[in-house]
Amino acid sequence: MGGRDIMWTLGIESTAHTLSFGLVDKDGIPFPSSTSTIKPEKGGIHPREAADHHKECASRLLHDALESQSLMPTDISAIAYSQGPGLGPCLRIGASIARGLASKFDVPLIGVNHCVAHIEIGRQQCGCEDPVLLYVSGGNTQVIARLDGKYRVLGETLDIGIGNMLDKFARAQGIPFPGGPVIEKLAAKWIEENPNPTMEGLELPYAVRGMDLAFSGVLTAALRLVENGKPLEAVCWSLQEHVFSACVEVAERALAHTGKTELLLGGGVACNSRLRIMCELMCEERDSKSYAPPRMYCIDNGTMIARLGWLELGAGRITNYDTSAIDQYLRTDQTPIIWA
Ligand code: AMP
Ligand code: MG
Repeated sequence: MGGRDIMWTLGIESTAHTLSFGLVDKDGIPFPSSTSTIKPEKGGIHPREAADHHKECASRLLHDALESQSLMPTDISAIAYSQGPGLGPCLRIGASIARGLASKFDVPLIGVNHCVAHIEIGRQQCGCEDPVLLYVSGGNTQVIARLDGKYRVLGETLDIGIGNMLDKFARAQGIPFPGGPVIEKLAAKWIEENPNPTMEGLELPYAVRGMDLAFSGVLTAALRLVENGKPLEAVCWSLQEHVFSACVEVAERALAHTGKTELLLGGGVACNSRLRIMCELMCEERDSKSYAPPRMYCIDNGTMIARLGWLELGAGRITNYDTSAIDQYLRTDQTPIIWA
């Protein structure tokens, strides 16, 4: 880095539906991101359309991010971006912007692992040391722990991510993306109207497969309950109870196996209040503690990318142009942890 001091690190997130620019200062302190998420009127997220969305709003968001801290582009002394995993066309937009900015302002470039960024912003925000992470997002569902210098995946979904499952269920009911928050509201309404609800007639398959999870069977069964005339609010409640219990069970087993005493939530589905409560209850029962970052740092955000970029640059890692290509299939355990 030629002895250059890192003042502000800009982070660019573009793995899927969201383009986001965020900043950390010279001490790695995060500031809220400028973010835009594509919300298709109908159907799911099309990678090309999401990439077009990212192209269209990039300069406005970058401008907003800089303005939020009264910065000039020349105040940025490092550029971090999501190198993977994610949707190819979306990742390429973020990487192109990152390369362009790093070259124009002659500052270091650092490509980071999106999943690891979720963990690191959570650790920073919650002040936890060595947690088991329950990472529940649109495309990913993983239970992760730091062992021997890497974040190891101890369990994960064998088919679709929990968020995608919720979004698909919602879409079939005419609820647009993102469906998760609406399912949460409908489930809460069911509890409000039925303070002592019963699962009778609302049973769903259980998603646990050893230390792994699988959600497509649950999705099919939940869709069938609605087709068979069960109230939508009741099915939303049952769906949440079943899939969140499954995630919490695998997370609990990960705590037991590793002997760790902290659980950290991350990913968009970690915005869900019911999931947060279930994690807290489980942790209380085993003298552990459950942490959840503020919601703006659970969803995909540029700030977490900036934070991990800052950590990696501080530990001496840098991305050269010839190693800056995106990797759609980058795994959580492919990134050596070289920072504290
Ligand atoms: P991410 O992929 O991490 O950006 O998270 C997006 C996913 O989080 C989408 O599948 C959303 O439906 C889901 N999500 C966001 N808020 C909530 C919520 N309150 N409850 C459940 N899922 C949510
Ligand atoms: Mg994510």
